[in-house]
Amino acid sequence: MIEHPCILTDVTKCIGCEQCVAACKKINHLPPEGPPPRPGSTPDGLSADRWTTVVRRPHNHFVRKQCRHCSQPACVSVCPVGAMQKTPEGPVIYDKAKCLGCRYCMMACPYGVPHYEWGSANPSVRKCILCYPSLKAGTIDRPACVHACPTEATIFGRREEMVAEARRRLRAEPAKYVQRIWGEKQVGGTSVLYISDIPLDFLAWNDGRELSDKPLPPLTWGTLKQVPFEFVGMGVLMGSLYWIIERRRRRMEENAAGAGEERHGE
Ligand code: SF4
Ligand code: SF4
Ligand code: SF4
Repeated sequence: MIEHPCILTDVTKCIGCEQCVAACKKINHLPPEGPPPRPGSTPDGLSADRWTTVVRRPHNHFVRKQCRHCSQPACVSVCPVGAMQKTPEGPVIYDKAKCLGCRYCMMACPYGVPHYEWGSANPSVRKCILCYPSLKAGTIDRPACVHACPTEATIFGRREEMVAEARRRLRAEPAKYVQRIWGEKQVGGTSVLYISDIPLDFLAWNDGRELSDKPLPPLTWGTLKQVPFEFVGMGVLMGSLYWIIERRRRRMEENAAGAGEERHGE
């Protein structure tokens, strides 16, 4: 398996076919789902059973969303039992057997990626794992979602190669692209990068504002460690987490409604 594996998504090439979503479900044995609104999903479409999704924006823009596999992942830094793990090669995975269901990672992730299995008898948090087990075993040479994409809207390689390719495209067609690589430095750098002809800050939980380049673990853990996990009443903790997650969900709904109004005004 290559070191520092990375996906580069070029929003200008995506046609919204969702073959990536289907391929992800297949390789990860995720159940089929009905049309939206889907129970347990956030307005971006992600859920415990849908680890990648395609966010629809005005003027036929389709933006794939999945875990960004942060270089310094906030979700790992806050997990009190080490269920979220950064692998030596780079992908961020989780151990379902260790997950307590505390949902700290859901609160800490700047992109709203981990989702909870609300309907399961043995629930845990779930998310994209960059196809780590299959890549590691050598049974695939790139993630299933990348392999399935008919337009090469997502490509796969070493992170430094993907950054170089993104820079090459920005230089070759400066009028076509916003001149930035999302994820190159954001929150300390991520291993899912984007180039695009529209701003992509709506992918973050940050009220659509731009995230800083500073890694989040020192900030998130600095806040959460003030909460002594073993002493806080679980009900109070869960209530607080639910309130924060619900508030974020409502903001996403408001953003999605805003996009819909823009669409109708086209
Ligand atoms: S995007 Fe969120 S879930 Fe994925 S590695 Fe970063 S902090 Fe963790
Ligand atoms: S990298 Fe693998 S787990 Fe992640 S979205 Fe693609 S197919 Fe799913
Ligand atoms: S398979 Fe490729 S073109 Fe189709 S929705 Fe996914 S990223 Fe876009």
